[in-house]
Amino acid sequence: MTEETLMSLFIVQITPFRQNCTIVVCNKTKRCAVIDPGGEIELILSEIKRRGLTVEKIWITHGHLDHGGGAKAFKAATGAVIEGPNEADAFWVQSISQDAARYGIEGMESFEPDRWLKDGDTVSVGDLSFQVIHCPGHTPGSVVYYNKESNFAQVGDVLFRNSIGRTDLPRSNPADLIKSITQKLWPLGDVEFIPGHGGPSSFAKERENNPFVGDKVLAVM
Ligand SMILES: [Zn+2]
Repeated sequence: MTEETLMSLFIVQITPFRQNCTIVVCNKTKRCAVIDPGGEIELILSEIKRRGLTVEKIWITHGHLDHGGGAKAFKAATGAVIEGPNEADAFWVQSISQDAARYGIEGMESFEPDRWLKDGDTVSVGDLSFQVIHCPGHTPGSVVYYNKESNFAQVGDVLFRNSIGRTDLPRSNPADLIKSITQKLWPLGDVEFIPGHGGPSSFAKERENNPFVGDKVLAVM
């Protein structure tokens, strides 16, 4: 990560799905954005409080319960506004409460974003701004949050270290997912990213090694 003085990041792993709730901190203002508070909001809040930060924004990458299930409670606890995902995920966002009940998980519920996001939108926290990149495929309304100055992106379940998002779910689309990754993310260069699950990586490492979207793999398809 470059420009570490401007921005710092930490992850709180939450829910039975081991989701990476990523907290983006503007070091100058001590304000933060919480990406995907899927649940266990007391744990997330205690980590934020311990660091003396103020929550300004809640950013959601997509409508799955492990990413957005705690957004409503987190907003109630902090007064932060909820931005994202893209409105194409409204059906997922609205089904979080019933999906959580089906999995038998407590503390996850549907929410209403204050702002649905579109490709090319800008979101901000403190003095930092992030570009919104609409990356359909895993879900139709998945968005990636990209900060050019720090060469960093939070990609949700679009891309993982050595893997990509599932496309066997309602309104998933494998062709869209490959297109999102190769035509919208790769052109950004060797960006370092945190995915929705698992360890961090970079676009260059995935172009080299990823068995689904590596350059050599796609060249023979
Ligand atoms: Zn997902």
